[in-house]
Amino acid sequence: MSATPASGSGDSPTSSFLTHRRCISLSAMNVVLPDNSKLELPDGATGLDAARAIGPKLAEQAVLIRSNGNVQDLRLPLRDGEQIQILTTRDKNDPDALYVLRHSTAHLLAEAVRRLYPGVKVAIGPPIENGFYYDFDFPDPIREEDLEKIEAELNRELKEGREWTRREISRDEAKVLFEQEGEPYKVELVDTAEGDISLYTQGDFTDLCRGPHLQNSKPIKAVKLTSLAGAYWRGDSSKPQLTRIYGTAFYSQEDLDAYLARLEEARTRDHRRIGAEQDLFHFDEVSPGSPFWHPKGMVIWNVLEDLRRRENSKRGYTEVKTPIIFEKRLWETSGHWEKFRDNMFFIQQEPGDEHLFGLKPMNCPGHCLVYDSRGRSYRELPVRLAEAGTLHRNEPSGTLHGLLRVRHVTQDDGHIFCTHDQIQDEVFRCLDHAFYLYGLLDLTMHVELSLRPDNKLGSDAEWDVSEGALRSALRSRSVEFVEMPGEGAFYGPKIDIHMEDSLGRRWQLGTVQLDFMMPQRFGLAYQTADNEQKTPAMIHRALFGSMERFIGILIEHYAGAYPFWLAPVQIRVLPVGEAHAEGAHAIAARLAERGFRVEVGEATETVGKRIRSAELEKIPFVVVYGDRESEASLAVRERGGGQFEESLEDFAARLATLVS
Ligand SMILES: [Zn+2]
Ligand SMILES: [Zn+2]
Repeated sequence: MSATPASGSGDSPTSSFLTHRRCISLSAMNVVLPDNSKLELPDGATGLDAARAIGPKLAEQAVLIRSNGNVQDLRLPLRDGEQIQILTTRDKNDPDALYVLRHSTAHLLAEAVRRLYPGVKVAIGPPIENGFYYDFDFPDPIREEDLEKIEAELNRELKEGREWTRREISRDEAKVLFEQEGEPYKVELVDTAEGDISLYTQGDFTDLCRGPHLQNSKPIKAVKLTSLAGAYWRGDSSKPQLTRIYGTAFYSQEDLDAYLARLEEARTRDHRRIGAEQDLFHFDEVSPGSPFWHPKGMVIWNVLEDLRRRENSKRGYTEVKTPIIFEKRLWETSGHWEKFRDNMFFIQQEPGDEHLFGLKPMNCPGHCLVYDSRGRSYRELPVRLAEAGTLHRNEPSGTLHGLLRVRHVTQDDGHIFCTHDQIQDEVFRCLDHAFYLYGLLDLTMHVELSLRPDNKLGSDAEWDVSEGALRSALRSRSVEFVEMPGEGAFYGPKIDIHMEDSLGRRWQLGTVQLDFMMPQRFGLAYQTADNEQKTPAMIHRALFGSMERFIGILIEHYAGAYPFWLAPVQIRVLPVGEAHAEGAHAIAARLAERGFRVEVGEATETVGKRIRSAELEKIPFVVVYGDRESEASLAVRERGGGQFEESLEDFAARLATLVS
């Protein structure tokens, strides 16, 4: 920035805008702009002052200050030497710029609801990924249809225009204010708020809020209220249930339209919907979070299970099977009792019995016992144990979500016990294995290195070693990755592999975790070449993650149109009329003999209707069999529209290329 305004020189552009401030200091300070130029400002100048010093247009469009990765309200003073970036309405896809827009829209929503529903109490209203919500305590319940009316009121506010003003007040003043307003939730929030209390006001609505907020409502160009849900005050089921209104807002109508189109696409791909349409699985309230797999769902499961077994055995794993319930003392040894107890299910044989059993949430302790079942020599390391074990995790019922968040989890688990010298090579092998599997499924990957969490076991020095080992493994394979401080498992750092699906959404799938703690806790050892006893390192790795979740993600990724090798029904043969049933069954039998999954769609409806329903079910190939067809010439329709005639032999040869 070359146009550095002078300060304190009477008629300079920077002096006049400060005259409204209570204490004007003549001393100056500098802030650093993104191009590393310095901007000189009077002491106490705010982000908005900085924007004005650069230009009136920038000041008008400014929405937020970002400073060293933190966001700051435009109205707050800057510090000398601070690196700042001024975000404007042009940063319309920047997550921070969207947050401030959506947070401000949440306040407008509260204002609209208070006007429409006298007696309503407001609770909290933060921005979230893709939008915002606000929680209300309505005197009478509202319904989904009411959102239209509320949205209209919100749009009316936008048409009128709103300005936000910020002020700081004492805790006592804030309590009096919200008591007078009849807002008990806000009074409670004042009591528990940390630091200074600030208020933001627009129209006739004042909210307790840390900010930041927009200057005014002009940048809010498109708003949509999306849904209603119940939510407990402070997420506590013993507290009152509130009504949560979800919405979203954008800097342009086109962005909102594109978002709604993506949402609609996600809805049509919802694995719960496709799972029902294709008869893959269902859930029942008698066992929340535990899918019931139907025959066609099990076909997908078993194809993946075969893939798991085949690749594990190629890569030197041996399969084991360990119990599902273990005594509490095992969980004390492993550290799960201390760190993971809240996510576990426990069984008491008799009420009051001290003898507690826990359902395993992970396979690792069981595998440690397998390793420790006899003496181990350095010669047999690495020991690679695999088990698709049945795990149970006590996820809160409110967070359960189809196959994507379940309590009954089947992990494609593996544990590698190795010497410290073998760690790097074993991590490489895990990564290669993961890349191979995801490549088969056309998944784009992103890698994260998750570092020590707050509740870690072990010392910082131990973590330095284990984090360093994973970091150097990734670097030496030239894998691009981002580091995620605080995201590691309690026993060790991990490499998390996320995949991006066909809608651009990211899912965490595989994980490779290095652990020096658990082998110590279980007293594992191997005999070295010098006849010493040493503790092996342990690598935990799961590549699909959980089978349940992985299948849920694949269903959405493919929108139910699986690749041929994964499709529950690969071919459906349709006899044109009753007279062709026998011939159609003979064709189906010939294809089934060769290992293909084939069905006959009996002639109960017109051929046209049956073709249509096969298309809806996304079956890869449909063979129509009538007077003109024979083994020498089949009429084949391919998913997606292709049609051809081919002999049974040629068709079977074509199919064989799709499963290799
Ligand atoms: Zn707020
Ligand atoms: Zn493990």
